[in-house]
Amino acid sequence: MADVLFTNVRIFDGSGDAPFTGELLVQGNRIVRVSRTGYGVRPPPVLGAQVIDGAGAFLMPGMVEAHTHFSWNDQPTLDAIQRMPPEEHILWCAEVAERYLDMGWTSCVGAAAAKPRLDVVIRNAINNGTIVGPRYLAASQEITVPGGLGDTTQPHLPQSEFAFGAIVSGAEEMRKCVRMFVKYGVDSIKLNLSGESITGMPGDMCQFTEVEIATAVEEAKSWGKRVAAHARSCNSIKRCVKHGIEVIYHASFTDTETLDLLEAHKKEHFIAPGLAWLINTSHHASEWGLTPEITRRMGYHRELDAAIESMQALRKRGVRILPGGDYGFAWTPHGTNAKDLEYFVKYVGMSTMEALLSATAWGGPMMRMGSDQLGKLKDGYLADLLLVDGDPLADITVLQDRSRLLAVMKDGVFHRAPEARVARSTRWAA
Ligand SMILES: [Zn+2]
Repeated sequence: MADVLFTNVRIFDGSGDAPFTGELLVQGNRIVRVSRTGYGVRPPPVLGAQVIDGAGAFLMPGMVEAHTHFSWNDQPTLDAIQRMPPEEHILWCAEVAERYLDMGWTSCVGAAAAKPRLDVVIRNAINNGTIVGPRYLAASQEITVPGGLGDTTQPHLPQSEFAFGAIVSGAEEMRKCVRMFVKYGVDSIKLNLSGESITGMPGDMCQFTEVEIATAVEEAKSWGKRVAAHARSCNSIKRCVKHGIEVIYHASFTDTETLDLLEAHKKEHFIAPGLAWLINTSHHASEWGLTPEITRRMGYHRELDAAIESMQALRKRGVRILPGGDYGFAWTPHGTNAKDLEYFVKYVGMSTMEALLSATAWGGPMMRMGSDQLGKLKDGYLADLLLVDGDPLADITVLQDRSRLLAVMKDGVFHRAPEARVARSTRWAA
């Protein structure tokens, strides 16, 4: 693997400081030197290194998607996702994994798979080089209750093969289910703690008993696994804090008590609200029969308002809010994930700097790799980085445009190397 020296780049290092003009040297899979230079000054050559003259392009850490479902297949219903035959489904996941890397997401946190082993198989195939994709943490299926979110079986077709999630009732079934997913090799266990209006049980309702949740967490933690929860309702968020469920997806409905709780425990939790799902389900899904009148009746408009208010409050309280969430439905197709950063700026009140940090600096701990490995451009960090034509701090939407991502590097290897001519013609957006 040749060393790579980026010169004439504007470096956003993920520390929260303003970007600076400099150069960055990658050796093997690590960043070994980050230095400031005057713009236009050619640094001394490094023996044998491939030199990339960024011509003022923006160099930033690779982004981390906090709530990924490779196996959601851009279809409009849970059934349409789940009924894809396994052979096609695994190929789909492989294709989508590459798409994430292509769009600058060098790490993704699996948030549930549509079949028991899809995530595990894809993670392993990425890690052993069989397929191309981001760093990945593999999730279980969504664990749910009979009649709850993810139980897509019919009374006359009760077989588990027809279920979107893994359906359990009672503590011992929960224990058995968690152990099964641990046996399969998942990194995290996903619990559906609240409902989801599109599937019948509204998002502000809860499923599972306390003892079922406690059993799942006890069992997962005894194997060193993370627990993540679909938690839209106020009560389900409180249960996440109470039971030490680290990753909270959605967190739409909050009250003062919930906000206080999350603030008091902010170092122990990550929130990925998945605003794109709420926004697009509410307003942009008519083509699939979900007109705004229907989604208003379903409660999505009310939930969107509540979620925006909750995220604004949580941001002010310093709770970590991360991008990602339920891309992979027809109206939230895979690859458009950087929309989340635009929504953070537009609706949650984040500065573009905060939005960028939420996609980078928090990625290390979100990927369970500590905060000294991933998510920053610093000496010794893993070389996951993006070269961007434009300035995401001035316009966060440039990250949605593949043609503006001049280069994507993961683990010291270019997934997409910059075309020298393109890189040279890039102007410095001051
Ligand atoms: Zn999800």
